[in-house]
Amino acid sequence: MSSLERPPLIQAVMPYFDVDELRRAAMGGWGEILSSAGIPAAVLDGRNHPCPKCGGRDRFAAFRDLPQRGAVHCRRCFTRGSAIRPGDGIATLRWWLGCSFAESLAFLADAVGVRPTVGSLRSRTAAAPSSCSTGSIPIDQSAEAIDAHTTFARDAHRRIDAATRRRLAEQLTVSEHALQRLRVGVTTDGNSSTWPMRNEHDQVIGVRISGLPWTQKRNSKWSRRGSQSGIFVARRTAGPSTATETQETLYITEGASDTAAAITSGLWAIGRASCSASTFFVDRYIHRHQPRRLAIIADNDDAGRSGAKRLAKSLCQALPRSLSEVDVIAPPAPANDLRAWAATSAINLADATAIATIRPKTQKTFRF
Ligand SMILES: [Zn+2]
Repeated sequence: MSSLERPPLIQAVMPYFDVDELRRAAMGGWGEILSSAGIPAAVLDGRNHPCPKCGGRDRFAAFRDLPQRGAVHCRRCFTRGSAIRPGDGIATLRWWLGCSFAESLAFLADAVGVRPTVGSLRSRTAAAPSSCSTGSIPIDQSAEAIDAHTTFARDAHRRIDAATRRRLAEQLTVSEHALQRLRVGVTTDGNSSTWPMRNEHDQVIGVRISGLPWTQKRNSKWSRRGSQSGIFVARRTAGPSTATETQETLYITEGASDTAAAITSGLWAIGRASCSASTFFVDRYIHRHQPRRLAIIADNDDAGRSGAKRLAKSLCQALPRSLSEVDVIAPPAPANDLRAWAATSAINLADATAIATIRPKTQKTFRF
């Protein structure tokens, strides 16, 4: 996908990142970063394995210093003769995600919590809850940036017609109502859907853009320039308040379409736009809304489960008063994610697989 095809407003996240800073931040953590990108942790042990991308029996291996450097190779699809040559974790991300250098940096920055140095993000530091363990605190977007993201998302939402929304809902096996509540829209070229990302006050701090499944952009996902990876939050609809606003359990999903699936099933749910950077906004959201119970719905694979447990542990460093623990659950096999689960049967949370219950480490009884 070349950046030339894109209208100017919706370019991929731009390379405003300090590569050396990113490499330093990632050093020692490449195993986690690559598994958060979806490479199964089991194949990153330095031994020979089937390639997670092209299969085979033993053609894939991680280099021995994987945690430091992040390099892997595959004799078939990722060798010195490939378009992208193996050598470090950034090359691994480009190979695995099939993305540009700039996009791989954006992913990496998200994963390690390094923020871009970009003019529109003013250095106005947010009040930092102690539970933010990503190592850096996202800075609040300026009012101008929020206005610009809001205008973009609102125009896109007004632009989408009922037929397009219905078709997208059918393809994602979610309800049109859920897409309405998430204020999903469509880009001016009609090729992509837009998903506002919000902060804990429901302000639009970025827009995730995803190629519509029936267009040639179907495999493309990117964020509007200057976006922060916030959370997907359902807005109220006109009329009497719905059941979701009186529920006690808040569910945290991963990704835009899984959030739509959760809302379709009537859950009180917010979605993480990315596995790590959104942690900060989830934390602020639960402090603001004080849910009685909190459950993180993990994708049913190694990366999904470990990412969800990481989030739970991170949140447990400073839970709001209303909570004493965080549950991690997964869809019942063979469903890999919430959407697959919802597509095969009505979601009954009693069927979910319990993965873990995480509690704060502090032993309150010993305090005096
Ligand atoms: Zn391969």
